Amino acid sequence: MRTVLITGGTSGIGAVTARAFKDAGYNVVVNNVFDDEPTAKFKEETGIPAYIWDVTDFDGCAKGVAQVIEEHGAIDILVNNAGIIRDAMLHKMDPDKWNSVINVNLNSAYNMCHAVINHMRERKYGRIVSIGSVNGLAGQMGQTNYSATKAGIIGFTKALARETSRKGITVNVVAPGYVNTAMMQDIPEDILAGIVDSVPVGRLAEPEEIAHAVLFLADENSGFITGETLSINGGLYMQ
Ligand code: NDP
Repeated sequence: MRTVLITGGTSGIGAVTARAFKDAGYNVVVNNVFDDEPTAKFKEETGIPAYIWDVTDFDGCAKGVAQVIEEHGAIDILVNNAGIIRDAMLHKMDPDKWNSVINVNLNSAYNMCHAVINHMRERKYGRIVSIGSVNGLAGQMGQTNYSATKAGIIGFTKALARETSRKGITVNVVAPGYVNTAMMQDIPEDILAGIVDSVPVGRLAEPEEIAHAVLFLADENSGFITGETLSINGGLYMQ
């Protein structure tokens, strides 16, 4: 049975993806930064173990990955899902907003992949899927930090895909458009209506549709797909 580790996997897209992997028969493990009430609720509801570390912490990622491998025997699939937004126009963006988003969304991919890559190379098997965003492809006002990280993930993915392609490891990005998560439910109704109107498919994505793409790329039969960015955006941005 393949083991999958999902960062930031106790809420939103990560939690739905964790449940989808479990339903598909994988051994699923998630990470989260806080051992808080939502994390406890997730563990109780799903029976999926949650390991607590901060993905911005290089040593914490190394320790966390080592513990998961020790307790589960392997990590076959890594999903870099943890992400945050700290929006502001550039002229109002302080270094904290810039650096926190770079750390959580981009440096985390380095920390996590560095922690797991030798294990995957030795086993000559691995699937790495990182969650990007349409805003890393198209850019978005108020999101120079976020857009930079999500575009950065694409370059990182292509480079790592080249490094690992002869080792049975694929590295890909799933780039969602606007997804029906708690984050979107906070947006005022008129602004949300405008967003939905701009999507050719005419609705938000359901998190299950993002999970579906992650499972596709994580599948053993997807070994010839690497360095790719798979957009799940309802036609909002066509490359
Ligand atoms: P959520 O906020 O629901 O989930 C993000 C998860 O990451 C949370 O569990 C959060 O923990 C965790 N996390 C945050 N910081 C850290 C950290 N330092 N270490 C470990 N875990 C951390 O967001 P979504 O489900 O909406 O987003 C998931 C991914 O999808 C992100 O990468 C996001 O950028 C991307 N995305 C989302 C879209 C959307 O419309 N929702 C659209 C496009 C991309 P906690 O809750 O405790 O803070």
